[in-house]
Amino acid sequence: MTSLAPTRDRPVRVLLVDDDPDDHLLTRDVIADIPGGGYTLDWVAEFDAALEAIGRGEHHVYLVDYRLGVKTGLDLLAAMTQRGYPGPVILLTGLGGPEVDRAAEEAGAADFIEKAKLDPVTLERAIRYTLRQRAYEADLERKVAERTAALEQANASLREADRRKDEFLATLAHELRNPLAPIRNALAIMDLSPGNQAGLAKAKGVMERQVRHLARLIDDLLDASRITRNTLHIDPRPVDLAGPLQAAAESSRAAAAAADITLRVELPSAPMVVNGDQARLTQVFANLLSNAIKYTESGGTITLTAVPAGGEVTVSVRDTGVGIPADDLPRVFDLFGPVDRADARTAGGLGVGLAVAKRVAERHGGTVTAISGGVGQGSEFAVRLPLIRPPG
Ligand code: ADP
Repeated sequence: MTSLAPTRDRPVRVLLVDDDPDDHLLTRDVIADIPGGGYTLDWVAEFDAALEAIGRGEHHVYLVDYRLGVKTGLDLLAAMTQRGYPGPVILLTGLGGPEVDRAAEEAGAADFIEKAKLDPVTLERAIRYTLRQRAYEADLERKVAERTAALEQANASLREADRRKDEFLATLAHELRNPLAPIRNALAIMDLSPGNQAGLAKAKGVMERQVRHLARLIDDLLDASRITRNTLHIDPRPVDLAGPLQAAAESSRAAAAAADITLRVELPSAPMVVNGDQARLTQVFANLLSNAIKYTESGGTITLTAVPAGGEVTVSVRDTGVGIPADDLPRVFDLFGPVDRADARTAGGLGVGLAVAKRVAERHGGTVTAISGGVGQGSEFAVRLPLIRPPG
């Protein structure tokens, strides 16, 4: 806490509320005699004028006489409390004693001084302690307010996470049910035409595709639970990134072609060796490519590049697709984030892929970032990983 000692430039402003002019003169002398100075005194005699002056909040401390005509200092304290005026008030009493002390405290006074004992040292000390107590209380209040705000924020994020989980469950149920209809149809076709080889092969093809889709959803689900429980492990060993990059590109080619999207792959010929988990890295690049395909209209282009520089390699997946609204950008890597799942664009996604990509990149000592100029401006995802053998 900073020093509260008054100075000539920063005097403590005291307001005396006392209906007796002689008491005013007396108090003025006491204030003037405070060793070191640094105090100014204003005076009001009337109850209503006092309340008005206190309401202006121009003073640091109020010295209030117990007797104020027909009213008392306690009445003034009650009126101040009612109006939310914070004080602090030091009550000046004719007679001291425990009852006056208790009554003053209950009414909200910070302290009380018997008039007979009013001298510069006693007054200075009472004011100093009162102001220090006030500063301490204000500090405490600020800390409580900060803590309350932090808790409210934590509460809001928990509510948001809860809402996203609810949404995720609804999407999951929907996604898991989707493949069942084609599988049921395929089974019916097999039942209806047991001898029809072409029909059987087609039905088998449908079932294989749908089962693969189901397996992918369940893998995503398992990854989501690994992320929430922080158990997503990687098995690192020296690996040339060209391997996972090419594997991911190969596995995306058919989907890109089917969506009439050009997939460009530009990789350097020199090896890019990282200490990494081949399967997880392939999964990350495949996720980014599959998103790029999902969020790009036909006729668009996806470019996969890898550029080693300065001890790290930057893999970028850039598309000419629908882009990402600025508001969503900070949350795309959240689990089950970020978009309104009712949005038709999100069909086929559980909101897990990018969360996995982020976690896997981090486990490799790397990062993943998203850039987009906004809706309709395409997107770019960049994965940076440390190289264990810098090129050259
Ligand atoms: P999802 O299964 O929903 O695609 P992801 O975790 O892979 O889940 O992506 C999270 C969200 O990020 C998506 O729902 C989408 O809104 C946005 N997103 C991801 N990749 C792209 C992209 N290439 N273009 C536009 N939006 C994207």
